[in-house]
Amino acid sequence: MPNLLAFVETRAGAIRKAGLEAVTAARGCVDAAGGGEVHALLVGAPGIAARAESLGEHGADVVIVVEHAGFERYNPEATAALAAERIGSGGYPLGVFSSTAQGRDLAPRVAAALDAAIVTDATTLTIEQDAVVVTHPIDTGKLIAIWAIRGTPAIVAMRPGAVLLAPQPRTARIERAQPVSDPASARVVTTELTVGDSATMDLGDAPVIVSGGRGLKSAENFRLVEDLAAAFGNAAVGATRAVTDDGWRPHSDQIGQTGRLVSPDLYVAVGISGAIQHLAGMRTSKTIVAINKDREAPIFKVADYGIVGDVFEVMPALIAAVRAARAAST
Ligand SMILES: Cc1cc2nc3c(=O)[nH]c(=O)nc-3n(C[C@H](O)[C@H](O)[C@H](O)COP(=O)(O)OP(=O)(O)OC[C@H]3O[C@@H](n4cnc5c(N)ncnc54)[C@H](O)[C@@H]3O)c2cc1C
Repeated sequence: MPNLLAFVETRAGAIRKAGLEAVTAARGCVDAAGGGEVHALLVGAPGIAARAESLGEHGADVVIVVEHAGFERYNPEATAALAAERIGSGGYPLGVFSSTAQGRDLAPRVAAALDAAIVTDATTLTIEQDAVVVTHPIDTGKLIAIWAIRGTPAIVAMRPGAVLLAPQPRTARIERAQPVSDPASARVVTTELTVGDSATMDLGDAPVIVSGGRGLKSAENFRLVEDLAAAFGNAAVGATRAVTDDGWRPHSDQIGQTGRLVSPDLYVAVGISGAIQHLAGMRTSKTIVAINKDREAPIFKVADYGIVGDVFEVMPALIAAVRAARAAST
């Protein structure tokens, strides 16, 4: 089994959970195939090397660190040129990326530079004989396609949250490398990164998402969703498109076909009908809890646990129960 390369996504000098998931997915592949090494490509501003150790804890055998001031924020052209060069010159048959907003910009650039086959939004990844095999939800998540990618290199971007993080400690060897093009002369540069208005965790990083729909009736009532997210302590707030279109929540909170694709450990749908466009973004969540007063609401078809009831009665009780459970466990 040859070595695989995983691209590690960072933001503001920190490794994102999706970056660890890319390393974990590559580790799973080489372990299942009986050998090979995972090489993690860590790109950032000077100082990013300090983060390399945590990649060993998640299964990287080698961390290739590329530091340059021009990589302080996402630099599409220079990062894509670098990743493509590493994959090409290193003879890696597979490059694993993240299907985050950044990854969906980066991975196709790398594939184009290498004239490689690419699958984004993959939920599983294995190597079988002469093919890279991925699962990929299609038709707004109603069907799961299994695709075999033949020919190398292959580029696969994993859906955030689809890979279960598990410690696989090893001491990674650190290698240093240089950019292959001058990041400072790239045509497209990120000049600023403005943090969204959500006071809770990012949707891509949160193990728990509490998401609200039109059943909440008004923007003010979204405090029930925020309170439940705060009670969990490790949750992000999401919303349906009906809600973001009405301006109750920022568009960055929207989950679904035309919003964010998420796979948290726990997804709590509050007053959400379960339109196919919404399900497309969240049905791969590990556990789904739905609260809706209509027992025929489609959301119950994908829910593991359903509460048929009025959100204004159920939510205060649920918030109190989660607060009590957390208080008891600390
Ligand atoms: C091209 C296209 C792309 C789209 N992309 C997306 C997308 O990415 N994401 C997305 O979410 N949508 C998307 N939509 C919109 C989608 O079709 C639905 O309109 C939307 O998801 C509905 O949002 P909702 O569930 O909040 O509202 P509704 O469908 O109006 O559902 C509200 C639910 O709340 C329940 N309810 C009402 N009052 C209470 C109460 N007091 N207690 C408990 N339950 C209550 C109702 O029974 C109902 O089931 C898209 C549509 C199109 C055409």
